[in-house]
Amino acid sequence: MKHQARKRFGQNFLQDKNIIHNIVNSLHLQATDNVLEIGPGQGALTFEIAPLVASLDALEIDRDLYQALSQQAPANLNVHLQDALKCSLQDYVTSSEQALRIVGNLPYNISTPLIFHLLQQVPYIKDMHFMLQKEVVQRMAASVNTPEYGRLSVMVQYLCRVENLLLVPPTAFYPQPKVDSAIVRLTPHQTPIYPPCDPKLLADVVTRAFNQRRKTIRNSLKDRVNDQQITQCGLDPQLRAQQLTVANFVEIATMIK
Ligand code: SAM
Repeated sequence: MKHQARKRFGQNFLQDKNIIHNIVNSLHLQATDNVLEIGPGQGALTFEIAPLVASLDALEIDRDLYQALSQQAPANLNVHLQDALKCSLQDYVTSSEQALRIVGNLPYNISTPLIFHLLQQVPYIKDMHFMLQKEVVQRMAASVNTPEYGRLSVMVQYLCRVENLLLVPPTAFYPQPKVDSAIVRLTPHQTPIYPPCDPKLLADVVTRAFNQRRKTIRNSLKDRVNDQQITQCGLDPQLRAQQLTVANFVEIATMIK
């Protein structure tokens, strides 16, 4: 039975075999890898990945797709009827205790909250490869002082190395999305490259600063830090959010008591 793509679940199925191979090749999978796929859909990536690894878990929210995939699943594939936004990664770290390699052609409507949900569980993650809307990948990878640089850039780069791997046109999917897509690789830093800080405080500072990105940090952060504290970080209170590096934001967050 042909599946009718459901917009509410962000269903755009990959149909271009070359792109599918390129994505799977970019993973450089090892047989011992512990892979978790988010949103396997009709199995475009799943059936290419499964023969390459010992075991693969896949989380699918759509009951019809879950049932269809479960019926065709090879022995090493475990399909779970599960909302990825609520997943606990600990459940998928097997007895080998190997950190997860997460992969997914993500539903675009939930990609940012999903990535934040996963980043809260970063100790369980070895790396992540995601298909996302091109602009979201550009924002993740953006450098300081560029228009794309914002909350997503800082929060993701604090925890991960970001690589923009491949541009994917709408023709690679069925139905075709209205936007271009891109594949991103996110690799959590093995040893932290920034001083440790409370992630909630960092998120709060970054959100305040970019919510009012045209204001100086003196104004946007006035409920959190004063001029003297900003200056102690070696920063001019007249700067705007876009001019602050990840390290600058971390330093400001550590000033807050
Ligand atoms: N991986 C398939 C492919 O590349 O053809 C499907 C990709 S499609 C863009 C997104 C998939 O994620 C769909 O199968 C959809 O049902 C599933 N999905 C949507 N929201 C989800 C959620 N919260 N948790 C798990 N899966 C979800």
